[in-house]
Amino acid sequence: MKPYDEIHIENLQVFANHGVFPEETALGQKFVVSAVLYTKLQAPGCSDALTESTHYGEVSAFIVDFLQKHTYKLIEAATEQLAWAVLSAFPLVSGISLEIKKPWAPVKLPLDYVSVKMTRFWHRVYIALGSNLGDKKGYLDMAVSRLSEAEGCRVKKVSDYIVTAPYGGVEQDDFLNGCLELSTLLEPEKLLDLLHKIEAEADRKREVRWGPRTLDLDILLYDNLVMESNELTIPHVEMHQRDFVLVPLAQIAPWVRHPVLGKTVCELKDGLQ
Ligand code: ADP
Ligand code: MG
Repeated sequence: MKPYDEIHIENLQVFANHGVFPEETALGQKFVVSAVLYTKLQAPGCSDALTESTHYGEVSAFIVDFLQKHTYKLIEAATEQLAWAVLSAFPLVSGISLEIKKPWAPVKLPLDYVSVKMTRFWHRVYIALGSNLGDKKGYLDMAVSRLSEAEGCRVKKVSDYIVTAPYGGVEQDDFLNGCLELSTLLEPEKLLDLLHKIEAEADRKREVRWGPRTLDLDILLYDNLVMESNELTIPHVEMHQRDFVLVPLAQIAPWVRHPVLGKTVCELKDGLQ
C-alpha cells in the first residue's frame, strides 16, 4: 500500500432497510458506518483550500443517502457496493476502508454489534487487445467502450492500434493490436471474467490455440502483482517477448516496470531482437 494520508468518518448512524429477514427490510434498523478514506492531503494541507480535498460532510451525506436508497440482504453486499460507489463518486480518493456495524442484528444473543469491514483500492492494470477476424478495428473499439462503461472500471489511456503479422505458426490473417490502461476495483479473477464476457460478446470461439480470433483480451500487468493460478498468470507470461504487446504498451506506459524482470517497458522493447 502506498503511503496515503487519511480522512476518518467514525460511527455515522444510518437508519436503513438491509437484512435477510423480511421484518428487517420492512421495519428497518440502525446501521453504524465507519470509513477511512485514503487520499493525498499535502495540497490542501499547504493551501488551506477545501477544493483540493474531499469534503467529509459530502461523503457522510453520500453514505446515508446510498444506504437508504438501496436494500441488500447482506451487509457484505451493502459494504462492497457502498465502497465502490464512494470510490467512483470522489475522484481524489484512491482507497477506502469501510466498516458497517449492525448493533441490532436479530441473532437473539447479547452482543454489541456484528460488522463487516473491507478495504478497496483502485488498481492500475494494462490490458492487451488483439483481433484478426472480421471488423478488427470495430472489435477493439467495442472492447474499449465496454471497459469504459463497466462498473468499477475506468479506461485511462489507449494506445494506437498497430497491424502485426500472425504469431504461433497458424496460417491466418494479420492482427490489429493495441493496449490500454485501466483503473479498476475488480480483483484479477473478476477482471478476467469480465474480459471473457466481452470476448464472448464479440462472438469469440475458442477453437485453435493461437488461431484466428475476433477479440483477445489479456491482462499484462496488475499493479506490481505477481501471481500464478490455473486461470491466470500475472504478469502475462509472454508479454516481454512480444513486439505486438511492447510497441503499443511503450506508447502509454514507457516507464512502468515489469515486477519480475525489473526492466521498464521501454527497456524490454529495446531488448527485443
Ligand atoms: P491466448 O491469449 O494465450 O492466445 P486465450 O485467450 O484463449 O489464449 O487464453 C487462454 C487462457 O489463458 C484464458 O482462459 C485464461 O484463463 C488464461 N490466462 C492466463 N493468464 C492470463 C492473463 N494474464 N490474461 C488473460 N488470460 C490469461
Ligand atoms: Mg487471451
